[in-house]
Amino acid sequence: HAKNAGRNRYAFFNQEMQAASTRSLMLSNALHDALLQNEFSLHFQPQVSLSTTEVIGAEALIRWHSKSLGHVSPGEFIPLAEESGQILSIGEWVLRETVRQIRTWLNNDIKPVRIAVNLSYAQFQTNDLPILIADILKEFNVSSEYLELELTERTAAIDPEHTVATLESLQQIGTHTSMDDFGTGYSSLSYLQRFPIYKLKIDQSFVRNMANNYNDRIIVGTIILLAQQLGMRTIAEGVETEEQLDLLKTIGCDDAQGYYISRPIPAERFELEFLTKH
Ligand code: C2E
Ligand code: MG
Ligand code: MG
Ligand code: MG
Repeated sequence: HAKNAGRNRYAFFNQEMQAASTRSLMLSNALHDALLQNEFSLHFQPQVSLSTTEVIGAEALIRWHSKSLGHVSPGEFIPLAEESGQILSIGEWVLRETVRQIRTWLNNDIKPVRIAVNLSYAQFQTNDLPILIADILKEFNVSSEYLELELTERTAAIDPEHTVATLESLQQIGTHTSMDDFGTGYSSLSYLQRFPIYKLKIDQSFVRNMANNYNDRIIVGTIILLAQQLGMRTIAEGVETEEQLDLLKTIGCDDAQGYYISRPIPAERFELEFLTKH
């Protein structure tokens, strides 16, 4: 009996693995000409100040509508693009498209807010990232104050010396930086104080349960105290309820982002609902 069950489980496992690898093969192929086929777009998710309720920025999040496969989430295709190296050209597209959008708002007399762009490790690791960013800002004649760059705590921790050097270059250009998914990446505290980071983004896993889980509430509070000591701002990700928002405000979090405020939305909608004319 035990042997049969074991064999069945093994066969089942194999089928699942095969389905998964067929899917990722299809995705990789489709990803190959997604840029050329113009299949990517950006959504923007507003970030608000908890003290003034004013919109202080937004995060640009990539969206992929594949002609052959339909909508594919970044959680699924970004890791594949990272493996294949395509993340470098996709990442450059995201940077350019974000700065182009900011330029469009400026041209239309709409007051932009600072837009945060996610960077993958492979991008962060290239030595010419600060030059690329400076070039794109110059290409569209956009001030660096409108651009923020997000790197995850995990990315920052891989090669901390390189992280310090790159963050210093970005600081010289004048872009802001934030550390994404903070609290999940085991970065060393001695390095954290050497990183010239503007803002810590408290990971949504802690925010999700903070209203009913004492430990998560303690973690969020501790991250906020740490950031205050290091002279960094804090933003909570994944805020879904009014209760979470009120709690975050009470414990001194600066900013918030999440479905309770707004889902990520296309540029035109973001402009209509959250930006103002000059
Ligand atoms: P992230 O940078 O941590 O982005 C936050 C994710 O949480 C987004 O998922 C966002 O839609 C989602 N989110 C925001 N508010 C809430 C909320 O209240 N509740 C819940 N449950 N989720 C919320 P999305 O857009 O699917 O992106 C997933 C991840 O994919 C991102 O995590 C980021 O790591 C990556 N990603 C997205 N766009 C890009 C990009 O342009 N470049 C790179 N390298 N990675 C990207
Ligand atoms: Mg992010
Ligand atoms: Mg995050
Ligand atoms: Mg995340």
